[in-house]
Amino acid sequence: MTPVTTFAEKTVALFGLGGSGLATALALKAGGAHVIACDDNPAKMAEAASKGIETGDLREIDWSKVSALVLSPGVPLTHPEPHWSARLAKENGVEIIGDIELFCRERAKIAPNAPFVAITGTNGKSTTTALIAHMLRETGCDVQMGGNIGTAILSLEPPSDNRIHVIECSSFQIDLAPSLNPTIGVLLNISPDHLDRHGTMENYAAIKERLVAKAKQAIVGIDDEMSRAIAKACSARGVDVSYVSIEPFSVKGVFVDGDTLVQSAASDAVAVASLSGIGSLRGSHNAQNAAAAVAVAMALGIPGEKIGSGLHTFPGLPHRMEEVGRIRSTLFINDSKATNADSTEKALKSFDNILWILGGKAKEGGIEPLRPYFPKIRKAYLIGAATEDFAKTLGNDVPYVRCGTLDKAVEQVASDAEAVNGPVVVLLSPACASYDQYPNYEVRGNHFRDLVRALPGIDVKGA
Ligand code: ADP
Repeated sequence: MTPVTTFAEKTVALFGLGGSGLATALALKAGGAHVIACDDNPAKMAEAASKGIETGDLREIDWSKVSALVLSPGVPLTHPEPHWSARLAKENGVEIIGDIELFCRERAKIAPNAPFVAITGTNGKSTTTALIAHMLRETGCDVQMGGNIGTAILSLEPPSDNRIHVIECSSFQIDLAPSLNPTIGVLLNISPDHLDRHGTMENYAAIKERLVAKAKQAIVGIDDEMSRAIAKACSARGVDVSYVSIEPFSVKGVFVDGDTLVQSAASDAVAVASLSGIGSLRGSHNAQNAAAAVAVAMALGIPGEKIGSGLHTFPGLPHRMEEVGRIRSTLFINDSKATNADSTEKALKSFDNILWILGGKAKEGGIEPLRPYFPKIRKAYLIGAATEDFAKTLGNDVPYVRCGTLDKAVEQVASDAEAVNGPVVVLLSPACASYDQYPNYEVRGNHFRDLVRALPGIDVKGA
C-alpha cells in the first residue's frame, strides 16, 4: 500500500467505495487522514466500516472542515450532471480529486524522481500497460502495475527511485488528477468514446492531453487526427515528444514497417524488433500498442535485445484475441472483450478462414459495418439475443447456424472444424455485450475457454 500522508490530520470526504474507493480510503487513513466515506450501496458502506473506515452521509457533514472530496472515477464529475457530492464540494469550495492525484502528490513529497509511466488512449490501454510492465519485469526491474488495470494505484507499493510504476489511466481518472506529471506519458489514440461523461469530443481530447502535457517525456500515437494535434501542441510547448505510428515516418519515435518495429530519429532509422510470429500481438492495432511499449522501454534505457525477448514472451491479456488452444490445424481464439463491431473488426482483420462465434446483446448498427470481412468467414455460429438480427445481416452471404448458447456453438464448431482440411480459426468475437446470457464479458470468455479446453485432443501449450 502507498499511505497517503499529504492529508495527514485533515478531513477527507470520499464518495464511491467500489473498485479503487476502499483502497483509497485505507491509504488515506494509513497516512493519518480523517476519512468519511460514503456510497449509495449499504453493503459497500458496511464493508468499509468493517475495515475501520468511518462512514457517513456526506449530505450531513460539516463541509467547512473538509479539505478534499475524493471521488471514484465511476462517479460523474461534470456530465451528464455533477454528482450531488461533487456539487456539495463545489458549493463549499472544496477541491475534488481522485486516487491518481493522491499518488502524484505523495510521489512529489516522498520520491519526486521515482519513475512513473502513465498510459492512456481510447483503445489499447490495458494491452500496452501490461506489455510495458512485462518487458520491464523481464529485464529485472521492480515494477508496480495498476490503476485502471487490476490493482488500485494506492494498493501498490509506494513510489521510490528504484521502482517503476506503470499505470493505466482512464479519462475519468485523468479528469480527477490535475497535477498528473508522469516521467513518461503515453497517449495511444483518440476516437469517440464516453461522450455521455465528457460532453464533447474536444473536452474528451483535452482531458486525454493532460496525461502527456506535463510529462517529462511524451509518447504519442499519431495515427488519428486528434492525437496528432496533441503531439504537435505538446512539442510546440517544449515537451520532449516521441511519436508512434503504424506507418513509417522520419521524426523521433517508433514506427511499424511491415512486421518490424523501427526506432527513428530525424536522420536515421534502426530496426529494433520484429513482431513476426508473436501470437499475443497480432493485428495492426497491437502493432501500435507494441510500438508505444517499445518507445517506453527505449526511453527507460532497456537494451534492444531485451526488448525483442520481452515482446516474444508477452503472454497477452485474456479475452483480447487470446489463444486458447489448438486441435491439429484449428486455432481457437477467445476475443470476448469485443463487445462491439469496431473491436470485432480488429479480430476479423487479423485472421483468415474463420469459423466465427458471435452474438449476445447487440449494439446499435449490429454487424453491418463488418460486411467487408464476410468473405473471410467460412461459417458463423449465432448465439444469444442478437441471433435473428445477425441472421438477417449475414443473409445469403455467409453460411450460418443458430446455436443459441455458447455450449452448443462450441460443440458444433468443433465438429465442423474437424471436417476442414487445412488451417482454420475458431473465433469467439461476439460484437455484442454479454448481458443477455452472462454477467460480463470475462465470464463469457472464461466459459468459452473452459469449453474449448475440454474438447478431446486440445493442445493448450501449442496455442
Ligand atoms: P482498453 O484498455 O483501452 O480498453 P485493451 O488493451 O483492453 O484496451 O483492448 C480492448 C480492445 O480494443 C481490443 O480487444 C481491441 O479490439 C481494441 N484495441 C486494442 N488496442 C487497440 C489500438 N491500439 N487501437 C484500436 N483498437 C485497439
